[in-house]
Amino acid sequence: MGIATFKGGIHPPDRKELSANAPIIDAKVPKVLIIPLSQHIGAPCKPVVAIGEEVKKGQVIGEPTAFVSSPVHASVSGKVIAIGEFPNAMGRMVNSVVIENDFKEEWTALRDNPDYLGLSAEELREKVKSAGIVGMGGAAFPTSVKLSPPKEKPIDAVLINGAECEPYLTADYRLMLERPKEVIEGLKVLMKVLGVQKGYIGIEDNKPEAITRMQEAAKGEANISVITCEVKYPQGAEKMLIKAVLGREVPPRALPMDVGVVVQNVGTALAIYEAARYGKPLIERVVTVTGEGIRQPGNLMVRLGSKVGDLIEDCGGFKNSVGKVISGGPMMGFALSSLDIAVTKGTSGILVMTEEILAHSGEFGPCMRCGRCIDICPMGLMPSMLSVLSEKGHYEDAKEYNLFDCFECGSCAFVCPSKRPIVQLVRLAKSMVKP
Ligand code: SF4
Ligand code: SF4
Repeated sequence: MGIATFKGGIHPPDRKELSANAPIIDAKVPKVLIIPLSQHIGAPCKPVVAIGEEVKKGQVIGEPTAFVSSPVHASVSGKVIAIGEFPNAMGRMVNSVVIENDFKEEWTALRDNPDYLGLSAEELREKVKSAGIVGMGGAAFPTSVKLSPPKEKPIDAVLINGAECEPYLTADYRLMLERPKEVIEGLKVLMKVLGVQKGYIGIEDNKPEAITRMQEAAKGEANISVITCEVKYPQGAEKMLIKAVLGREVPPRALPMDVGVVVQNVGTALAIYEAARYGKPLIERVVTVTGEGIRQPGNLMVRLGSKVGDLIEDCGGFKNSVGKVISGGPMMGFALSSLDIAVTKGTSGILVMTEEILAHSGEFGPCMRCGRCIDICPMGLMPSMLSVLSEKGHYEDAKEYNLFDCFECGSCAFVCPSKRPIVQLVRLAKSMVKP
């Protein structure tokens, strides 16, 4: 059988060697943490603590206000010293709880239940929900919602996304090397919740060690398969991975559940295992801190609510002339305007790009109609038309070209010889019209 893949896509330099060999280490836990009450897609949480209140690690500090939402927990023990609005990675103001750490590390009650797979599907789903687990690959969609598909959309496969196709990022790679058994256990929990007989893990073939470790961990699990995928961006996008691993086409505007699949990333699978077994809420995650502008690139286990600046200090600080600090990877990440932004459930990486690297991006020109962007768009769109229509302010017309099918992977901008900011123009058009 050939290596699994999809149509279109690109091959940007991946630069993963900067941090791939750095084992996950605990980041320093800061004195003050700013914990946003909206770290997910959906309704923000409402605070359920007051200024001056003592909190324990793992205590709920924000409760969901809608079905599509997810609770937020204290990531340290200490005292609530403020509740107010702070900017997030996208520059929006978000209501947040500020905790002063007492460094006592006092947990709310956790309980080890080695027989977690003996729990009912409903009990396990509830554990995932109350642990505040969301998709940790970046999208931050509440996992409990994905685990509650409508009856008319039966699920027959769970797919763990181990592609980590964004250049530079290595957090999932390290988890697959260091905690493969727990990732498999998380997959088994997902399969039990959804009543599914078949589980898959899709990994790009530039990660042979991760493939071997996951295969070893899955040994004896007859209904779990590790699938090797071609190295190609954006292999880790849900629709691309489903096509590559299962050969199923998710139609435009449809969701993975429409073709019977639930996709979760590696970090989320680990969090699901910890919630099922120990009742541990999502209060920390692995973040890759990397780039040519960081002195010691690495992979850190970070308490949510730590500031980006804390992580950069942990990794030896800046080196060379810093051009941009990005939350996420270079293709789909967001440039940060401040180092005081908090790490959240969806923060997969902090990338420091140097001025030298950014100098190659330069100014953009008109579309030359070369068609390169059309050839590589994994969604089969016409990025050239989308960008031209948005540039001219013809946002409604962009809908005719399936504007909302674009998932902003950035492949088109990467190959464009005129360096057109296609993704920014797509985002602008999306913000101006209704889907
Ligand atoms: S149009 Fe959208 S989906 Fe297509 S390559 Fe560009 S960013 Fe990716
Ligand atoms: S790659 Fe750039 S220049 Fe070529 S058609 Fe697409 S938008 Fe136009």
